Amino acid sequence: MKKVLLPLLLCAVTLSLLPTLKAQAEEPQLILRLRRDFGYGGFGEIEGTFRLQASGPQDLVRVIFYLDDEPVAEVAQPPFQWQFHTSSFPPGSHTMSAVGYTREGQELHSNVLQARFLTAAEARQATSRLLVTLLGAILGIMVLSAAVTFLLSGGKSRPQPAGIPQNYGFFGGAICPQCKRPFARHWWAPNLGLAKLDRCPHCGRWSLVGRASREELAAAEAALLEQAAMGKAYPTPSDEERLRRALDETRFLDE
Ligand SMILES: [Zn+2]
Repeated sequence: MKKVLLPLLLCAVTLSLLPTLKAQAEEPQLILRLRRDFGYGGFGEIEGTFRLQASGPQDLVRVIFYLDDEPVAEVAQPPFQWQFHTSSFPPGSHTMSAVGYTREGQELHSNVLQARFLTAAEARQATSRLLVTLLGAILGIMVLSAAVTFLLSGGKSRPQPAGIPQNYGFFGGAICPQCKRPFARHWWAPNLGLAKLDRCPHCGRWSLVGRASREELAAAEAALLEQAAMGKAYPTPSDEERLRRALDETRFLDE
Protein backbone atom coordinates (compact mmCIF):
# COMPACT_ATOMS: atom_id res chain seq x y z
CA MET A 1 0.00 0.00 0.00
CA LYS A 2 1.38 3.37 -0.95
CA LYS A 3 2.04 5.79 1.88
CA VAL A 4 0.17 8.66 0.22
CA LEU A 5 -2.95 6.64 -0.37
CA LEU A 6 -4.09 6.10 3.21
CA PRO A 7 -4.35 9.74 4.37
CA LEU A 8 -6.12 10.57 1.10
CA LEU A 9 -8.62 7.78 1.62
CA LEU A 10 -9.14 8.83 5.24
CA CYS A 11 -9.82 12.42 4.16
CA ALA A 12 -12.28 11.32 1.49
CA VAL A 13 -14.14 9.03 3.87
CA THR A 14 -14.33 11.46 6.79
CA LEU A 15 -15.29 14.43 4.61
CA SER A 16 -18.14 12.50 3.06
CA LEU A 17 -19.40 11.57 6.52
CA LEU A 18 -19.48 15.06 8.04
CA PRO A 19 -22.73 15.75 9.94
CA THR A 20 -25.68 15.74 7.61
CA LEU A 21 -27.69 18.86 6.97
CA LYS A 22 -31.02 18.85 8.75
CA ALA A 23 -33.16 20.72 6.27
CA GLN A 24 -35.99 22.76 7.73
CA ALA A 25 -39.48 22.87 6.30
CA GLU A 26 -38.87 26.10 4.36
CA GLU A 27 -35.69 26.85 2.42
CA PRO A 28 -33.42 28.71 4.87
CA GLN A 29 -32.31 32.17 3.74
CA LEU A 30 -29.13 31.73 5.72
CA ILE A 31 -27.09 28.61 4.91
CA LEU A 32 -25.02 27.20 7.75
CA ARG A 33 -22.18 24.79 7.03
CA LEU A 34 -19.75 22.96 9.28
CA ARG A 35 -16.16 22.74 8.08
CA ARG A 36 -13.35 20.76 9.62
CA ASP A 37 -10.08 22.64 10.16
CA PHE A 38 -8.32 19.90 12.08
CA GLY A 39 -9.44 16.73 13.80
CA TYR A 40 -11.86 13.85 13.40
CA GLY A 41 -15.20 13.93 11.66
CA GLY A 42 -17.30 10.93 10.76
CA PHE A 43 -20.77 9.40 11.19
CA GLY A 44 -22.13 12.67 12.66
CA GLU A 45 -19.39 12.67 15.30
CA ILE A 46 -16.68 15.32 15.49
CA GLU A 47 -13.59 16.11 17.54
CA GLY A 48 -11.07 18.89 16.98
CA THR A 49 -11.07 22.37 15.46
CA PHE A 50 -14.13 23.15 13.34
CA ARG A 51 -15.61 26.20 11.67
CA LEU A 52 -19.24 27.25 11.26
CA GLN A 53 -19.78 29.22 8.05
CA ALA A 54 -22.92 31.23 7.32
CA SER A 55 -23.77 32.51 3.86
CA GLY A 56 -26.78 34.63 2.95
CA PRO A 57 -27.87 37.59 0.79
CA GLN A 58 -25.51 40.38 -0.33
CA ASP A 59 -26.81 42.82 2.33
CA LEU A 60 -26.07 40.49 5.25
CA VAL A 61 -24.36 42.61 7.92
CA ARG A 62 -24.38 40.54 11.10
CA VAL A 63 -24.55 36.88 12.10
CA ILE A 64 -25.02 35.37 15.55
CA PHE A 65 -23.98 31.73 15.99
CA TYR A 66 -25.86 29.51 18.44
CA LEU A 67 -24.81 26.29 20.14
CA ASP A 68 -27.79 24.50 21.76
CA ASP A 69 -29.81 27.74 21.37
CA GLU A 70 -27.22 29.68 23.37
CA PRO A 71 -25.46 32.53 21.51
CA VAL A 72 -21.73 31.76 21.32
CA ALA A 73 -20.37 34.28 18.79
CA GLU A 74 -21.36 37.40 16.89
CA VAL A 75 -19.66 38.36 13.62
CA ALA A 76 -20.30 41.82 12.09
CA GLN A 77 -18.30 41.48 8.84
CA PRO A 78 -17.71 38.85 6.18
CA PRO A 79 -16.65 36.12 6.10
CA PHE A 80 -19.36 35.19 8.57
CA GLN A 81 -17.68 32.30 10.31
CA TRP A 82 -16.80 31.13 13.77
CA GLN A 83 -14.01 28.73 14.65
CA PHE A 84 -14.24 26.56 17.75
CA HIS A 85 -12.70 23.50 19.37
CA THR A 86 -15.04 20.71 20.46
CA SER A 87 -13.18 20.40 23.79
CA SER A 88 -14.48 23.88 24.76
CA PHE A 89 -17.92 22.31 25.18
CA PRO A 90 -19.18 19.28 27.10
CA PRO A 91 -19.04 16.03 25.05
CA GLY A 92 -22.30 14.70 23.65
CA SER A 93 -24.96 15.80 21.15
CA HIS A 94 -25.17 19.48 20.23
CA THR A 95 -27.21 21.55 17.80
CA MET A 96 -25.68 24.43 15.85
CA SER A 97 -27.58 27.24 14.20
CA ALA A 98 -27.25 30.91 13.22
CA VAL A 99 -29.37 34.02 12.89
CA GLY A 100 -28.43 36.69 10.35
CA TYR A 101 -29.49 40.31 9.98
CA THR A 102 -29.67 42.30 6.72
CA ARG A 103 -28.90 46.05 6.40
CA GLU A 104 -32.68 46.73 6.56
CA GLY A 105 -32.90 44.76 9.80
CA GLN A 106 -34.53 41.63 8.36
CA GLU A 107 -33.95 38.54 10.51
CA LEU A 108 -32.82 35.34 8.73
CA HIS A 109 -32.82 31.90 10.37
CA SER A 110 -30.39 29.22 9.27
CA ASN A 111 -30.74 25.48 8.97
CA VAL A 112 -29.90 23.52 12.13
CA LEU A 113 -26.87 21.23 12.23
CA GLN A 114 -26.47 18.40 14.70
CA ALA A 115 -23.28 16.64 15.77
CA ARG A 116 -22.00 14.58 18.64
CA PHE A 117 -18.86 16.07 20.17
CA LEU A 118 -16.39 13.33 21.04
CA THR A 119 -13.64 13.45 23.63
CA ALA A 120 -10.09 13.09 22.29
CA ALA A 121 -9.99 9.46 23.53
CA GLU A 122 -13.29 8.61 21.80
CA ALA A 123 -12.03 10.19 18.57
CA ARG A 124 -8.84 8.09 18.71
CA GLN A 125 -10.96 4.94 19.08
CA ALA A 126 -13.20 5.98 16.20
CA THR A 127 -10.13 6.69 14.03
CA SER A 128 -8.59 3.28 14.72
CA ARG A 129 -11.95 1.59 14.01
CA LEU A 130 -12.00 3.39 10.66
CA LEU A 131 -8.37 2.37 9.96
CA VAL A 132 -9.09 -1.28 10.73
CA THR A 133 -12.11 -1.20 8.39
CA LEU A 134 -10.03 0.40 5.62
CA LEU A 135 -7.12 -2.02 6.05
CA GLY A 136 -9.56 -4.92 6.02
CA ALA A 137 -11.06 -3.69 2.77
CA ILE A 138 -7.60 -3.26 1.18
CA LEU A 139 -6.51 -6.72 2.33
CA GLY A 140 -9.73 -8.16 0.91
CA ILE A 141 -9.03 -6.55 -2.47
CA MET A 142 -5.45 -7.90 -2.42
CA VAL A 143 -6.61 -11.46 -1.70
CA LEU A 144 -9.32 -11.20 -4.35
CA SER A 145 -6.93 -9.94 -7.03
CA ALA A 146 -4.46 -12.70 -6.15
CA ALA A 147 -7.24 -15.28 -6.48
CA VAL A 148 -8.29 -13.83 -9.85
CA THR A 149 -4.65 -13.88 -11.06
CA PHE A 150 -4.32 -17.51 -9.95
CA LEU A 151 -7.54 -18.53 -11.72
CA LEU A 152 -6.66 -16.63 -14.92
CA SER A 153 -3.21 -18.24 -15.05
CA GLY A 154 -4.85 -21.66 -14.74
CA GLY A 155 -3.04 -22.30 -11.47
CA LYS A 156 0.39 -22.14 -13.13
CA SER A 157 2.79 -19.92 -11.24
CA ARG A 158 6.11 -21.66 -12.06
CA PRO A 159 8.30 -20.01 -14.68
CA GLN A 160 7.78 -21.72 -18.03
CA PRO A 161 10.76 -23.06 -20.01
CA ALA A 162 12.70 -20.40 -21.88
CA GLY A 163 11.63 -19.89 -25.46
CA ILE A 164 7.91 -20.15 -24.76
CA PRO A 165 6.37 -16.65 -24.36
CA GLN A 166 6.14 -16.15 -20.61
CA ASN A 167 2.97 -15.26 -18.76
CA TYR A 168 3.97 -12.85 -16.01
CA GLY A 169 0.47 -12.51 -14.53
CA PHE A 170 -1.34 -9.58 -12.94
CA PHE A 171 1.69 -8.07 -11.19
CA GLY A 172 3.89 -8.10 -14.27
CA GLY A 173 7.34 -9.47 -14.94
CA ALA A 174 10.59 -8.25 -13.48
CA ILE A 175 14.24 -8.79 -14.27
CA CYS A 176 16.40 -9.95 -11.37
CA PRO A 177 19.21 -7.38 -10.91
CA GLN A 178 21.44 -10.18 -9.53
CA CYS A 179 21.17 -12.92 -12.18
CA LYS A 180 19.47 -10.88 -14.97
CA ARG A 181 16.82 -13.57 -15.43
CA PRO A 182 13.13 -12.66 -15.88
CA PHE A 183 10.43 -13.79 -13.45
CA ALA A 184 6.80 -13.05 -12.55
CA ARG A 185 6.42 -10.66 -9.59
CA HIS A 186 4.63 -12.26 -6.66
CA TRP A 187 1.30 -10.99 -5.32
CA TRP A 188 2.55 -11.29 -1.74
CA ALA A 189 5.67 -9.18 -2.33
CA PRO A 190 5.29 -5.88 -0.42
CA ASN A 191 5.01 -2.71 -2.49
CA LEU A 192 7.66 -0.08 -1.74
CA GLY A 193 6.78 2.93 -3.83
CA LEU A 194 6.87 1.85 -7.47
CA ALA A 195 8.89 -1.30 -6.78
CA LYS A 196 8.20 -4.56 -4.99
CA LEU A 197 10.53 -6.31 -2.58
CA ASP A 198 10.52 -9.70 -4.26
CA ARG A 199 12.51 -12.96 -4.35
CA CYS A 200 13.96 -14.20 -7.63
CA PRO A 201 12.89 -17.85 -8.12
CA HIS A 202 16.04 -18.56 -10.19
CA CYS A 203 18.80 -17.41 -7.83
CA GLY A 204 16.75 -17.01 -4.64
CA ARG A 205 18.03 -13.53 -3.91
CA TRP A 206 15.81 -10.67 -2.67
CA SER A 207 15.79 -7.32 -4.44
CA LEU A 208 13.64 -4.30 -5.20
CA VAL A 209 12.15 -4.89 -8.62
CA GLY A 210 9.95 -2.62 -10.73
CA ARG A 211 7.58 -3.84 -13.43
CA ALA A 212 9.75 -4.48 -16.52
CA SER A 213 8.53 -3.52 -19.99
CA ARG A 214 7.56 -6.12 -22.61
CA GLU A 215 10.75 -5.28 -24.57
CA GLU A 216 13.04 -5.66 -21.52
CA LEU A 217 11.46 -9.02 -20.68
CA ALA A 218 11.78 -10.24 -24.28
CA ALA A 219 15.47 -9.21 -24.28
CA ALA A 220 16.08 -11.05 -20.98
CA GLU A 221 14.31 -14.17 -22.36
CA ALA A 222 16.43 -14.03 -25.52
CA ALA A 223 19.62 -13.75 -23.43
CA LEU A 224 18.52 -16.81 -21.44
CA LEU A 225 17.93 -18.77 -24.65
CA GLU A 226 21.34 -17.73 -25.97
CA GLN A 227 23.01 -18.87 -22.75
CA ALA A 228 21.24 -22.22 -23.03
CA ALA A 229 22.39 -22.62 -26.68
CA MET A 230 26.01 -21.71 -25.76
CA GLY A 231 25.91 -24.28 -22.99
CA LYS A 232 25.00 -27.01 -25.53
CA ALA A 233 27.63 -25.93 -28.10
CA TYR A 234 30.54 -25.97 -25.66
CA PRO A 235 29.85 -28.65 -23.06
CA THR A 236 32.27 -28.92 -20.21
CA PRO A 237 34.12 -32.26 -20.55
CA SER A 238 32.87 -34.90 -18.17
CA ASP A 239 35.24 -36.97 -16.00
CA GLU A 240 34.71 -39.97 -18.29
CA GLU A 241 35.68 -37.95 -21.35
CA ARG A 242 38.81 -36.61 -19.65
CA LEU A 243 39.88 -40.16 -18.69
CA ARG A 244 39.34 -41.37 -22.27
CA ARG A 245 41.44 -38.51 -23.63
CA ALA A 246 44.20 -39.28 -21.17
CA LEU A 247 44.20 -42.93 -22.27
CA ASP A 248 44.37 -41.86 -25.93
CA GLU A 249 47.43 -39.78 -25.18
CA THR A 250 49.22 -42.62 -23.36
CA ARG A 251 48.46 -44.96 -26.28
CA PHE A 252 50.09 -42.47 -28.66
CA LEU A 253 53.21 -42.43 -26.49
CA ASP A 254 53.40 -46.26 -26.61
CA GLU A 255 53.67 -46.29 -30.38
ZN1 LIG B 1 18.00 -13.95 -9.74
